[in-house]
Amino acid sequence: MNILVINAGSSSLKYQLLNPETGDLLAKGLCERIGIDGKFTYKPQVDGKAGRNAEDVPMPTHAEAIQTVMDALVDPANGVIASMKEIDAVGHRVVHGGEAFHESVLINDEVLKTVEDCVPLAPLHNPANLTGIRACQKVMPGVPMAAVFDTAFHQTMPSKAYFYALPYEYYENDKVRRYGFHGTSHKYVAGRAAVMLNKKPEELKLISCHLGNGSSVTAIDGGKSVDTSMGFTPLAGLPMGTRSGDLDAGILQYLMKKYNLNIDEMLNILNKKSGVEGVSGVSSDFRDLSDAYDKGNQRAGLALDIFCYNVKKFIGAYAAAMGGVDAIIFTAGIGENSAKQRMDIASGLEYMGVKMDAEANNVRGKEAVISAPDSRVKVLLIPTNEELMIAMDTANLVKK
Ligand code: ADP
Repeated sequence: MNILVINAGSSSLKYQLLNPETGDLLAKGLCERIGIDGKFTYKPQVDGKAGRNAEDVPMPTHAEAIQTVMDALVDPANGVIASMKEIDAVGHRVVHGGEAFHESVLINDEVLKTVEDCVPLAPLHNPANLTGIRACQKVMPGVPMAAVFDTAFHQTMPSKAYFYALPYEYYENDKVRRYGFHGTSHKYVAGRAAVMLNKKPEELKLISCHLGNGSSVTAIDGGKSVDTSMGFTPLAGLPMGTRSGDLDAGILQYLMKKYNLNIDEMLNILNKKSGVEGVSGVSSDFRDLSDAYDKGNQRAGLALDIFCYNVKKFIGAYAAAMGGVDAIIFTAGIGENSAKQRMDIASGLEYMGVKMDAEANNVRGKEAVISAPDSRVKVLLIPTNEELMIAMDTANLVKK
């Protein structure tokens, strides 16, 4: 079975063709500058096939982008399938499913209408995701398609976890609540953790730390998300590459008055100029921060400290929320690659049964137990694979 996974942005589109049963990747790539001049990248994962790197291809709309992907996949010389018939279904990443979607769904007109209704909750992302779906429907008529939502996994949170202590009508009338994001990643690594620990998901209390450019921590009890650090938007929770994470809303009034900023300018600062980049003045990239700190840059060290301290606080909070924890998972760019940050975050948690193993932690990018053999709480490194999770969900829906 082959599933095409599409992640459509407003002027870009990432794609992967993979087999969800074996996990084999056949090809991946990206269309950029859609509606501008069009750049196409194609990376076949089959021996002897040539790729293409940021080639000029006119793509006035997403439909031409999808058509370009299709032509490359079935190309007689460098394609990886003989015809479009070998694509069993398409899985689309959709950012926001609001309260309407608590799992992935097959796309029909009603689903599209409901995703449209969620646009006010994700005004930048959902319209682009919808454009990607409609373009695919045009180029691949009759091929089943599924929508896989970043928010869906978190719909199991209890109301005490998703409610903000605001006047009730803002929830009732305006749907202001915690939604949480990175759900596809948290769900994927939680599933892998159960396999690694040889347990059923229902038996496990997990804390999953997705630490990348955007970062979030999720408490997963019995296979279900029960709390997560991102909120109504992905700005909440941990300090990130350039996002502030949680802060006192009173700061907005203070700074906006003092510097005569409007709300869009203020939010731009919180989203794009804050986080570890804002604190360090160096970079949003943790490799640059570590290098700068090694050379004596104290602000880079402070930014790293703030980040690790906040992840540690969420781990403590979520262990309390679940009444214990069996395993802590590290994933995404920083979680998968940075032994130093993993050690900083998980050390000092011995009181709650976490004992790291420095040697086992000296690993990157592959599944590993990085806690000591006698650690009551296991610490796991699990590379995330959101595309595979989307393909697996899509395949399950199609098989039904
Ligand atoms: P995104 O949220 O864009 O998918 P990623 O999951 O790719 O982000 O994570 C990007 C982050 O991972 C960057 O901050 C980068 O510095 C960090 N990262 C990647 N490789 C390493 C590494 N070897 N050591 C430390 N951090 C790394």
